[in-house]
Amino acid sequence: MLRMPPFQVHNPATVAEAVDLRARLPESLFVAGGTDLLPNLKHWLHQPAHLVHVGGLPELCGIRRQPDGTLLLGAGTTLHELATSSAVADAPALPLAASLVAGPQHRTMGTLGGNVMLDTRCLFYNQTADWRKAVGFCLKKDGDWCHVIGSGKSCVAAQSSDTVPVLLALGARLRFETPSGPLELALADLYQKDGRFDLARDIDPRALLTTVIVPPRPPGHRSTYRKVRARAAVDYPQLGVAVVANFEGDLLAAIDIVVGAILPQPKHVDLDGATGRPLDDTAIATIAERVFKQIKPQTNVHGSPEWRRHLARVETARALRQLRDERSRAF
Ligand SMILES: Cc1cc2nc3c(=O)[nH]c(=O)nc-3n(C[C@H](O)[C@H](O)[C@H](O)COP(=O)(O)OP(=O)(O)OC[C@H]3O[C@@H](n4cnc5c(N)ncnc54)[C@H](O)[C@@H]3O)c2cc1C
Ligand code: SF4
Repeated sequence: MLRMPPFQVHNPATVAEAVDLRARLPESLFVAGGTDLLPNLKHWLHQPAHLVHVGGLPELCGIRRQPDGTLLLGAGTTLHELATSSAVADAPALPLAASLVAGPQHRTMGTLGGNVMLDTRCLFYNQTADWRKAVGFCLKKDGDWCHVIGSGKSCVAAQSSDTVPVLLALGARLRFETPSGPLELALADLYQKDGRFDLARDIDPRALLTTVIVPPRPPGHRSTYRKVRARAAVDYPQLGVAVVANFEGDLLAAIDIVVGAILPQPKHVDLDGATGRPLDDTAIATIAERVFKQIKPQTNVHGSPEWRRHLARVETARALRQLRDERSRAF
């Protein structure tokens, strides 16, 4: 049996109270659904004296849609709600990615906020304390050496959330409440090159994520998400490919591809010059090859880097063919 370190749970009634508690209580952490944090506590990856429970806070719950199509997604929205809400149906990759997170129980408890703020993952980190001790710990926790890159300089643990590549491709922004007031930033600015996420993130670690803002989708929007994992029922991604595209008539007018579960920062692939032409088989092969060339998987999650890199090309091509075929059905 894995025992957790002792902690006291606090149940604030408002966002203001939650932020105040987190600021006042030393060694405190936010917990929402607890589906990632509690397993991490069992592995003694954190030893907080206090947990500030923000799951179910009314101000954090719900999905609102503005007249221009902007989506305001409360950080406390559960993944199940996101996966099944008709309000997000015109950004199909988002409910699809939410529906592919973990298993049904996790999606019922787990929140969008927890998914965005997910700690980075690594084969040498998400292990019991005894396991980590046996290999001499590592740079991210209690040690001074990275077993993946073989140096003591930086950590390459992977950002492994399924909704994040999609939200990045959609150009999402984040709204936080912090002890010094509200803060808004692009989601792309949240993740750092170093996987010691909570140390390297250059925002106040006591900031409470309140809202994920998704800009309106233009006419001709198509999007999808492809996930590679060992067990389809319940696993973190070994690779995630989000594709967001716009079509104008026959032409591919815009395209954003973000690959997740590779490094601490999801990779926004440079596809300059790929638009302004039909998405035929040649264009699909060219784009998939550009994805293959621009990503560099590590031995941080299950599956060899070579295999995951190859699958990035395969899954990109599958996603693009799906969008092309949806498009021809729509005309
Ligand atoms: C067996 C298993 C399989 C899983 N598979 C997947 C998977 O396939 N894909 C995937 O993406 N995830 C997976 N997860 C992880 C997890 O279920 C989801 O990422 C979920 O969205 C986490 O949300 P939560 O509310 O439970 O977060 P919590 O566990 O409560 O919190 C996670 C982190 O976010 C912080 N946090 C939470 N809410 C906020 C907030 N509003 N503001 C600031 N910080 C906040 C917490 O302090 C903590 O650091 C899996 C978990 C398990 C146990
Ligand atoms: S990438 Fe290296 S430092 Fe980071 S968790 Fe894995 S082994 Fe540790």
